[in-house]
Amino acid sequence: MIREVYLLVFGGWVGLKVVYHELYRTVYASDPAAEAGRIESIYDVIATYFEFVQPEPASEEDIRRAHTQRHIDSIKADKQLYKVAALAAGGAVTAAELAYGGEPAFGLIRPPGHHASGDSCWGFCFFNNMAIAILKLRSEGKAEKVFILDIDLHFGDGTVNILGGLPGISILNPNHGGRKEYLEEVSGQLKVEASRGCDIVAVSAGFDEYVLDWGGRLKTEDYKTIASMVKEFSDENCSGRRFAILEGGYYHRDLGKNVKALLDGFA
Ligand SMILES: [Zn+2]
Repeated sequence: MIREVYLLVFGGWVGLKVVYHELYRTVYASDPAAEAGRIESIYDVIATYFEFVQPEPASEEDIRRAHTQRHIDSIKADKQLYKVAALAAGGAVTAAELAYGGEPAFGLIRPPGHHASGDSCWGFCFFNNMAIAILKLRSEGKAEKVFILDIDLHFGDGTVNILGGLPGISILNPNHGGRKEYLEEVSGQLKVEASRGCDIVAVSAGFDEYVLDWGGRLKTEDYKTIASMVKEFSDENCSGRRFAILEGGYYHRDLGKNVKALLDGFA
């Protein structure tokens, strides 16, 4: 109660929008990303701090910029899965559009997407939310130069397969040493991107590098540090255009805390 009053009196929500839909709570598969309680563990921690925005599902036309018809039809064979996967892609599109319009955004979405390639998918992913969002912006002549930072534990092969070869798109999956080297790799690449120029920066935000998660590398404060670096980079190079979308992260107990740390740095 005290916190709510404080927020009302002192300017309300922090300037970042969270894109979210109740349907993301659906248990659409039997993998760790779809596990009951995962989205809830994040929602419960961040709900009072940020303004929430509800997305529409991505259209099939949007999805087709990143995927073959054959792949789309294979997901469609499971109606419930298609519904939530298209809604996750739509959540990424909304986050990207908000960011392009100057409002930083986070897509609290699932299923994740960075292991989905044009004609196949694995690793709890079905449609590549990031690729669909970026290709939508580009179809409207926006976001010629894009920097994608993928901080999930796992290499975002799907994103690289779909977007990696396109002119103007740069992708980093940092993977060096311990915490210190990891953060240095991110900051070093941001310097390179600054010299190259950038229209929008996007983060595939997985939290499975966390010390108590599968990767065992990053601390909670590191998510804030990374997000602060991205914020500063975007403020200096692309009018603050930045968004992040949820990928992996399976240690439910601290997942909300880690997402909050990222959003605090990002806002
Ligand atoms: Zn992962």
